[in-house]
Amino acid sequence: MKAPNIPLDETERLKTLRSLNVLDTLPEERFERLTRMAKRMFGVPIALVSLIDEDRQWFKSNIGINASETPREISFCGHAILGNSVFIVPDTREDPRFSDNPLVLNDPKICFYAGCPLEVNGYRLGTLCILDQVPRNFDEEDIELLKDLASMVERELTAIQMATMDELTDISNRRGFMLLAKQSLNLCIRQELPAVLVFLDLDKFKPINDTFGHAEGDSVLITFADLMKKTFRNSDVFARLGGDEFAVLLSSTSRKQAEVVIDKFCHSLQKYNQAVKRGYDVEYSYGIVEFNQNKHESIEALLADGDSLMYEAKKSKR
Ligand code: GH3
Ligand code: MG
Repeated sequence: MKAPNIPLDETERLKTLRSLNVLDTLPEERFERLTRMAKRMFGVPIALVSLIDEDRQWFKSNIGINASETPREISFCGHAILGNSVFIVPDTREDPRFSDNPLVLNDPKICFYAGCPLEVNGYRLGTLCILDQVPRNFDEEDIELLKDLASMVERELTAIQMATMDELTDISNRRGFMLLAKQSLNLCIRQELPAVLVFLDLDKFKPINDTFGHAEGDSVLITFADLMKKTFRNSDVFARLGGDEFAVLLSSTSRKQAEVVIDKFCHSLQKYNQAVKRGYDVEYSYGIVEFNQNKHESIEALLADGDSLMYEAKKSKR
């Protein structure tokens, strides 16, 4: 058996995949519809929307396989995302890369595979694929049909991205934050881990817009978001909630640890302010709240607490 190679653009690819916030989410009709169509049109028992995560393939939509994921090393889709055309294995038993693959030897006993890479922002994140337990031929017409269906899946994936990302700063927007923070908090509740929310709002941002122009204001927002990307961990959820408001949810983190992280963030911002004289400094106020399951029955309640603490901090500066 041959395990799939890792693509050259893997780091950025994974970043793009994660930015969709789609991994480990519930099935959605918009994808189910497309795998149903693939199954029916090709007359196969198995059709999948498979996404290649760091060390697994995870199925956003799954008809016919009795698992929500499999290891990446044994995935066919891991091979399919290495090229930009439809990847076809007409008969796995005759292909040394797959003949002794556990997915061939055991359930679901894959004999035929065809997978079309799913591309978002130029990165191949996974495939729309069809599988059969008997060998098959796949002609040009079949290839075109699978590509058409895959482009419909791509459209849905892009729509997810557009709905959850802030276009200006390229970090999550409020909607993305809500989705991710919910998942993250549920995990913390289950594992009895602490979590801390920090709510941030830029100080005197309007005067920067008014004096230096809206484009300069935009670049401040971008800088601020870039600094968040550099400071916070992959497992933290951070976002631009709107205007000059940002939030970060630090999971498995105590209040004390969160304060250290915020100090580090503040320090980086100071360095940025000192590097070039722009005629203004980028400053912010923040509120920091420890998640309390009894008090915060929703993310909204946690955000509201953070917002009012931020406001208190801002008032005390004046
Ligand atoms: P405070 O110190 O009390 O926080 O006041 P502020 O001047 O920072 O203003 P406030 O937080 O009340 O309002 C945020 C302002 O951000 C309002 C709006 O003009 C500006 N803004 C909102 N979205 C954008 C954007 O996308 N780009 C730019 N350049 N400005 C924006
Ligand atoms: Mg502000």
